[in-house]
Amino acid sequence: MQPCNPNAKLETKCLHAGYTPKNGGPGTVPIVQSTTYRFDSTEKVAELFDMPTEPMYSRFANPTCDAVEQKIAALEGGVGAMLTSSGQAASLLSVLNLCSAGDSIVSVSTIYGGTVNLFGVTLKRFGIECIWVDPLADEETISQAIKPNTKLIFGETIANPALTVFDIEKFAKIAHAHQIPLIVDNTFATPILCRPIEFGADIVIHSTTKYMDGHALQCGGVIVDGGTFDWEKSGKFPDFTEPDESYHGVVYTREFGKMAYIIKARMQLMRDFGCYPAAHSAFLLNLGLETLPVRMKQYCENAMAVAKMLKQSDKIASVTYPNLPDDPYHEMAKKYLPNGTCGVISISIKGGREAAVRFMDALQLASIEVHVADIRTCVLHPASATHRQLTEEQLKAAGIDGGLIRISVGLENIEDILADLQQALERV
Ligand SMILES: *Cc1c(COP(=O)(O)O)cnc(C)c1O
Repeated sequence: MQPCNPNAKLETKCLHAGYTPKNGGPGTVPIVQSTTYRFDSTEKVAELFDMPTEPMYSRFANPTCDAVEQKIAALEGGVGAMLTSSGQAASLLSVLNLCSAGDSIVSVSTIYGGTVNLFGVTLKRFGIECIWVDPLADEETISQAIKPNTKLIFGETIANPALTVFDIEKFAKIAHAHQIPLIVDNTFATPILCRPIEFGADIVIHSTTKYMDGHALQCGGVIVDGGTFDWEKSGKFPDFTEPDESYHGVVYTREFGKMAYIIKARMQLMRDFGCYPAAHSAFLLNLGLETLPVRMKQYCENAMAVAKMLKQSDKIASVTYPNLPDDPYHEMAKKYLPNGTCGVISISIKGGREAAVRFMDALQLASIEVHVADIRTCVLHPASATHRQLTEEQLKAAGIDGGLIRISVGLENIEDILADLQQALERV
C-alpha cells in the first residue's frame, strides 16, 4: 500500500491518512493493547530517546494513537499532533508547553466555559495570568493587552456556546507582530469546515469528544502543531532554544526543527503528566473521523432547517446561528467557514430562565445532556449547567443570558427534529 497522498482531499484523508497497511496487514488501524514495546538492543532504545520516531511506552505514545494523530495532523495541515485524554487536557498542555509561572496569556472572552475556568481560576493558582479581550476589539486595544511576559493568544473558531466566529487572521497578525503564537480551539468547526492554520494560527486544539468522535462514546482531545512558528526568531521561548536538562540537554528547535513544539509537548509534558488516551479510545476516535465529512455536511443542513423554523416562532426572542444571513457573524462565517459552521444553534426564548426550563422539559426526541455535537439531538441550558460557575458578569462576557438554550442538532430525520421542537414550543 502507498501512504495517503498529502494532496488528497479531506474525505480521502479521513479514510486513508495516518495508517498504511503493510502487505497482507490488517486493513483497519489495529488496536495495539500494550503498555510497552520490546527492543533488541540498548542502542535502539538510546536512539529512540534521541529521536522519538516510534512508541516506547504508552504513557506518551502508542501505535494506534499515532495513526490517529497523523490523520488529524494531515486534516489540519499541521506537521504533527498529540492526542490527550480530554479536550481540557489539550487546552492545558497547549498553554503549559509555552508558559511557566510568572507568564501571562491573552484570550478572547467568548470561549468554552471550561476553558474560562481553566485560564481564569486554575492557571492563576499556578502563577499564569490570563488577560481577557473582547473578540471585536480593534488591533490597538488587543495589542495593549499583550505584555512582555505574554506567551500566546487564544481563541475559539466558533465559540461554545456563544457561536461567535473568531477573526483568526486579525488575531494571528497581532500575535505575530508580538512574536508570540496563536492557538485556536477548532472543536466546533472541525478541520472539515475550517483549517485555522491556513489563516495564520500556529497551534490548533480540539475536544475530540465532540464532532470528531461524533457518537458520544469517549472523551478526548488533540493538539496539532502547524510547524509555522519560528521559536528562534521570536526570542521569547528559551525552553525551545536552550537545552532541556530534564531531557538529556536536548535543544528542541535544533533537534526537531518545525516539530519542536509538538515533540516538546510529548517528551516533556506528556511524559510528566501522562494524560494520554488508551489505544482503544483512539481506535473509536478513528471510526468517528472516517465519517466526519459526511456527518458535518448533514449537521449543517439540519441545523439550518432548525434555525429557519425557530426564527419564525413568536416564542423565540432570538436565534443565533452564524449561517443565517442576518447573524452579526455571518460575514466572518462566510470568510472562515464557507461550507457551513456546525450543528449547534443558540436560541433565546421569551420569558427567560423559566420558559427555557419549560421548553426543555417538554422535549421528547431531543434529550437534555451535558454534551454537545452528539450524533443525537440534545439541548442544554448553559446558565444552569456548563456555565454555572461563571459570575453574571462573566456570563455576559461569554454572551449567555437566562433564556439561552444551546441546541445541538443531530442526525435524526429533520422532520422528526422539527416536529419535536414545535410541540415543545407550543407547551411554553
Ligand atoms: C467540550 C469542549 C472543550 C473541553 O473538552 P472535553 O473533551 O470536555 O474536556 C474544550 N473546548 C470546546 C470548544 C469544547 O466544546
